[in-house]
Amino acid sequence: MGYVRGNRGDYDKWAQSGLDGWSYDEVLPYFMKQETWEGGASAYRGGSGPLTVRTTRYADPLLDACIDAGAALGHRRFIDYNGAEQEGMGPLQSTIRDGLRCSSADAYLRPALSRSNLAVVTHAYAERVVFDGETATGVQYRHAGRLTTALASKEVILCGGVINSPHLLMLSGIGAADELREHGISVKVDLPGVGKNFQDHVNSPLPFVRKTPGPLHHFMRLDRVVKELGKAYFFGNGFATDLPGPLTAFLRTSPELEMPDIQILSNFGPMNTGPYLSPFKKPYQDGFALVVVLLRPESRGHLKLASANPSQPIKIHQNFLARQADRITLRKGVRMVREITRQSALGRFIDRPMALEGNQISDSDIDAHIQARSITSHHPLGSCKMGTANDPLAVVDAELRVRGVKNLRVVDASVMPNLIGGNINAPVMMIAERTADLIRKRPLLVPQQSGQHAEAAQ
Ligand SMILES: Cc1cc2nc3c(=O)[nH]c(=O)nc-3n(C[C@H](O)[C@H](O)[C@H](O)COP(=O)(O)OP(=O)(O)OC[C@H]3O[C@@H](n4cnc5c(N)ncnc54)[C@H](O)[C@@H]3O)c2cc1C
Repeated sequence: MGYVRGNRGDYDKWAQSGLDGWSYDEVLPYFMKQETWEGGASAYRGGSGPLTVRTTRYADPLLDACIDAGAALGHRRFIDYNGAEQEGMGPLQSTIRDGLRCSSADAYLRPALSRSNLAVVTHAYAERVVFDGETATGVQYRHAGRLTTALASKEVILCGGVINSPHLLMLSGIGAADELREHGISVKVDLPGVGKNFQDHVNSPLPFVRKTPGPLHHFMRLDRVVKELGKAYFFGNGFATDLPGPLTAFLRTSPELEMPDIQILSNFGPMNTGPYLSPFKKPYQDGFALVVVLLRPESRGHLKLASANPSQPIKIHQNFLARQADRITLRKGVRMVREITRQSALGRFIDRPMALEGNQISDSDIDAHIQARSITSHHPLGSCKMGTANDPLAVVDAELRVRGVKNLRVVDASVMPNLIGGNINAPVMMIAERTADLIRKRPLLVPQQSGQHAEAAQ
């Protein structure tokens, strides 16, 4: 639900690497087209798109205290990190409509279900792409125990996500030739990049015990939470209509960096948050965590075929923190965020830290914490990388067509060449919006001249 577009510099780097049409000014109209922003249309925001986006309304004074603590250290308070300037600290924006999650299915798929040219088959599992020579002509899928083929009169478009799209390509003979042969799969195209370049936002949480329980804790009492969930579901209001993670921040660990290299996400409840009702179930001890996210890791993981049998999952090697540079940046980020939590603005909220206690913390303490506690932020991408003809790991071209065959595209998170500076759901939908125009050969939206607004906002 967190709605984040990333930094303008991310897309400009894509364009500079030769990916025509993917600069920030060129993708901005598609970000604007995708959303109905609660503040209405502007130079950066859309006012009439299918995805409903709003700023958090989560009511907890801890949010302002975190922003005040950041400001005490000179971190800017942003108004709109999806606008002219991303850097700073402030409230998260989310895809929420009428108090409920506005998913991509709500925004795009359900409104189109009644179209005569759309058939949706659920509980179906695609097993391979079918070809006539070099031309993709359909997809073979298993449904209710039967193998069926859907034929394509124009193109086959894979959008199985960062794990499954490369898996499907490999099962169809598109991937690193030696790996495919290991499993007895005949090679259609030797594309070594399939399943490589796997990237994800690793994060390291800093958890704290709260001095006095916050509003989430209050509402988690069983009788209250049932009432709040009912209010959210039936009337679209109340405490349960927002994410209990209302803070975000985009910060630079060194002033000379071009773009923020860490993000802060927040959990305004501890990991064991859950309903309670004395004397049957004791309340949990309230706490919160600030989560330090490494935005642009150098480490690269990969996916490896385990079997030619489509029902066997592919192996995922995340390879987090393989590069020392990633460990150093995350360490700096943890130190910065720890510094924020030691400001007086947070004094009335923090009873004690649950990790990295004490005034003097060494680098090796932080490294040990990172090693023990780091996890995914659920933003994997890059396993069917978009790239130019001279990029040995490129799987699709700048129009997301799979190299070496005809009439086959991949349109999902797997095509993103590099991680962007933020959560990736909005960028995936932007990519889909833009590629829809490419597929239908419609004129692309006119680039937005955002530079002048950005300068004005400085
Ligand atoms: C727990 C969690 C929380 C997240 N929170 C946020 C957030 O707050 N903000 C944000 O920006 N991003 C968030 N993300 C990331 C975001 O959800 C993903 O980046 C995004 O959904 C990726 O879109 P996609 O279209 O590439 O793949 P998916 O959304 O994964 O879509 C792929 C689809 O293909 C289907 N599929 C796969 N293989 C097959 C097959 N063989 N046959 C048939 N169907 C198949 C899958 O069932 C799935 O429906 C979160 C992710 C997770 C897991």
